Amino acid sequence: MTKTVAVIEGDDAAPEAVGPTIELLKSLDLNIEFTYPVVGDVAINDYGSPFPEEAKVLIDDADTTFFGSTSGSSGVALLYLRWGKGTYANVRPTRYFPGAPSALANPEGVDFIIVRENLEDLYLRTEGDLKDLSNLGLISKTSRKPIAELGEGRYAIKAITREGSERVIRFAFELARTRRHELTVTSKYNMLPESDGFFLEIAQELASEYPDVQMNHFIVDDFACRLVANPRQFDVTVMPNLYGDILSDAAAGLVGGLGLAASGCYGKDYAYFESAHGTAPDIVGRNIINPTANLLSAAMMLDYLGYNEASQRLHSAVVAVYADGDSLTPDVGGQASTQGLCDAVRARF
Ligand code: ATP
Repeated sequence: MTKTVAVIEGDDAAPEAVGPTIELLKSLDLNIEFTYPVVGDVAINDYGSPFPEEAKVLIDDADTTFFGSTSGSSGVALLYLRWGKGTYANVRPTRYFPGAPSALANPEGVDFIIVRENLEDLYLRTEGDLKDLSNLGLISKTSRKPIAELGEGRYAIKAITREGSERVIRFAFELARTRRHELTVTSKYNMLPESDGFFLEIAQELASEYPDVQMNHFIVDDFACRLVANPRQFDVTVMPNLYGDILSDAAAGLVGGLGLAASGCYGKDYAYFESAHGTAPDIVGRNIINPTANLLSAAMMLDYLGYNEASQRLHSAVVAVYADGDSLTPDVGGQASTQGLCDAVRARF
């Protein structure tokens, strides 16, 4: 059966990595049809809106979306893919490929996954002026000062809901079952017992449903230290949104940088795939953006679409290219172009 993938190439240097990645997928003859929703500035020109109904329909009609990083006006498409489609679990694997320039003395065997809650926490983006809270009678539990007396300032709401936490933690437990049967939960539950503590409580409740998975937990600052000092101790980890956002970029630094940081965002009935990095505006137009994050996200997408063998082969081809070492982009110590790395992966497929 034909599968449909909506492709949004993104902004700045992103299309330079997404384009050859999609060309590579097309060359595999996998019975995938690609559609191209028009978003951002081009859509403003053509349709009068950065995210026209036509683009939304193409995303809805597709089995999944492959998304290049965006900046500016096309960001609204990302809001739809995340909040509109309810893609609550952001899966960000960190795996060392021999040949990549790691920050670690001994990176062999580093292979863990951060499952980042993708829709809530501080990402409600409900921020405002502190004076708007002054009539609520709120008091700081640390300084004991009434919020009304804090003076000029701003606030942001951090929300950890039962539904939002349960679904992502359950997702992480299920993922752990496909790997080492180990799950690490982290948040700042000591300092924020009401919100981050609730996240941990829910994990502890769910643990009884997964007796075959060994669950442990660390406070997020301690977790960060352990992650850098001994990443091999971790397999599947789950955490609220902001910690996952920051720690997964930091984790990429352990194994060669953002150019290798793949990701998939999964919901109840939709998923989309994107690199974890941004649009790399500082290297636009040079054909040196590392396409590995896109290629690995594409492998995750093939798996999601049911092309499990092709997914494995694509992943193995990337590993082989890193082991060879002569077709790598400058960010990982090579001299190849984006296209050059993609061609080498295709040749190894
Ligand atoms: P965002 O906030 O959307 O994640 P950002 O502007 O903080 O984006 P990136 O666009 O990810 O960050 O870029 C951070 C740095 O990493 C830049 O110097 C960029 O060139 C580099 N970088 C990011 N992705 C890649 C890549 N795939 N290949 C090479 N360099 C990259």
